[in-house]
Amino acid sequence: MTPLQHAAFKGRTDVCQLLLENGADVNSNHHENGYSALHFAALSGNPAVTRLILEAGAKIDHLNSVNRTAAQMAAFVGQHQCVRTINNFFPKERLEKFTKQQGFETEPKLPPNLQLPFLRLINSTNIHPVKVAMFLKDNKELVLDAYKVAKVLDILVEESMKSRDTNDVLAIKCHYFATLIRQASKFLKKPDDTLDGFVKSLVKGRDVDGFPEMQERIIRQCLKEFPYIESQLLQQLVQQIAPVKIGDAPTALTTLVSGIYGPVWEDDSSCWTCGELKAEKKCSACKCVSYCDQVCQKLHWPTHKKFCKSMAEAYQTREQERLKEEAEKEQSKKEMEKLEAQIKQTSVSEDSEGNMRSGETAVQQEEVASSQTELRMVAETDTLTGSAENDRKVLAENIEKSKS
Ligand SMILES: [Zn+2]
Ligand SMILES: [Zn+2]
Repeated sequence: MTPLQHAAFKGRTDVCQLLLENGADVNSNHHENGYSALHFAALSGNPAVTRLILEAGAKIDHLNSVNRTAAQMAAFVGQHQCVRTINNFFPKERLEKFTKQQGFETEPKLPPNLQLPFLRLINSTNIHPVKVAMFLKDNKELVLDAYKVAKVLDILVEESMKSRDTNDVLAIKCHYFATLIRQASKFLKKPDDTLDGFVKSLVKGRDVDGFPEMQERIIRQCLKEFPYIESQLLQQLVQQIAPVKIGDAPTALTTLVSGIYGPVWEDDSSCWTCGELKAEKKCSACKCVSYCDQVCQKLHWPTHKKFCKSMAEAYQTREQERLKEEAEKEQSKKEMEKLEAQIKQTSVSEDSEGNMRSGETAVQQEEVASSQTELRMVAETDTLTGSAENDRKVLAENIEKSKS
């Protein structure tokens, strides 16, 4: 096992970076089972490491000794984010013709200094518009050259749609990034403008329910403007989105993400601001919304503060109801046990009513009566399962019989 393979397996981006910078061979399969660094990165479950190894030129189709690629191994152990990263990877070789001057061109279509951020953008696995906007904010040079960057993306759309192996997944993804870059550029009018306004406009929720309307509208508009209406993926997305009212589920974003990456497992631990998975910080007041960090929480606060209190109350009510339900279940279980015992007792002295009653204390009689009433009430609620309901009915009939 090479040090790079080891670092990749441990999910250590920093160590991998250092080793690669110092000449580590990313495609070495110096391992007893023929694993490459990419296999280990994929198994680590860390998409950042996986992307780093891919960016260093790792071969995607390298097979280990049991004839499995890295993506297959990752799928096998359930590392879906790594599978996504590998399957959607756009190699830097494909960008070279844009960063080098071609034929009669006076300059390359894409300034060479934009190659790296461009690749990072196109290879990102979280395409949530806020996440993209935050990325653009940190890589402002892409937006300052928005015209050129969007143009290259447009060419990639065209190539993907017109090539023999049509790739409408890549085409729609590139078209989506071009749309966001063009939107972002509207916020950079003066040299020292930032993209804060762009990020905030995407996070902002509407007054009535906090739904981020702008995101929805941008994605819908983006799909409307996709130039290849014959694309099957486009048609499928439009069919799914068109009947949905803005604000209802599924959102255009959910539909787009599952169209590009395959089925999305709805996960309530994803960040409410940027969609990042496994966001572990929760709003301390309502415990209902998750965030990556304080940055995401602060961005969302102007929207969330209008709903935090009511969400906290709803959470409390839900918790109380859950506890009450549990207590009731426990109580009715006890009642059942008690009743069963009493029925056994009753059937023994069934022949002489007088004897039966005299054998019981007043308290016991009262208990039987009240549990019978409860029994009828419980049987009427639809929260019971069929069999439990039947048990209770049979029991109730038995009691009626034993009384008469
Ligand atoms: Zn976040
Ligand atoms: Zn809250």
